[in-house]
Amino acid sequence: MRILLVEDDQALGEGIRTALKPEGYTVDWLQDGASALHALSHESFELVILDLGLPRMDGLQVLKQLRAAANPVPVLVLTARDATSDRIAGLDAGADDYLVKPFDVAELKARLRALLRRSFQRPQPALEYRGISLDPASQVVEYQGQSINLPRKEFLLLHELLIQPGRVLTRDKLQQALYGWDEDVESNALEVHVHHLRKKFFPELIRTVRGVGYLVDK
Ligand code: CA
Repeated sequence: MRILLVEDDQALGEGIRTALKPEGYTVDWLQDGASALHALSHESFELVILDLGLPRMDGLQVLKQLRAAANPVPVLVLTARDATSDRIAGLDAGADDYLVKPFDVAELKARLRALLRRSFQRPQPALEYRGISLDPASQVVEYQGQSINLPRKEFLLLHELLIQPGRVLTRDKLQQALYGWDEDVESNALEVHVHHLRKKFFPELIRTVRGVGYLVDK
């Protein structure tokens, strides 16, 4: 579960990241609005925690531009401002939830769980590919009618690949989808996951594009 945290307060950012790691979230952290908007338009996250008072573009602008680009990622807004007008502006701009600082980390976790539950309940069609069926909502994977139990990273990798058959996905992009920016990753981790997926399904499922990345044929 990859989360983008946008918070310019060093201590708070560190605190949130540390608190969320044991929950199994991959947390990527940025400290200004412009970088956040750039990351959001180039990469995919399951959820965004967005501070409103940020350098280089405030959080409200980030949110407005995100929604103007029809990006549906759930956004939890964090702010020190507890004025009703700010809260309304945040929600009007497309925030899904709102937390006023200072807050209890247990409450943050509960709100994130609720947002993720809601977002997975939105109908997402199952991906079907040559006998493989992957349901993003229930996270169930089947092959030729048999249910296949995949570890988390393999599930994420298969999902990334099946969502856009015919497109070469670079190693960088896949690694970020699986691990975030600063999780330490063995250099051959991706190859190992690909190897496992080929074994569990069929060898031609994933094609290696030498020096670039991987591809599932259309
Ligand atoms: Ca701030």
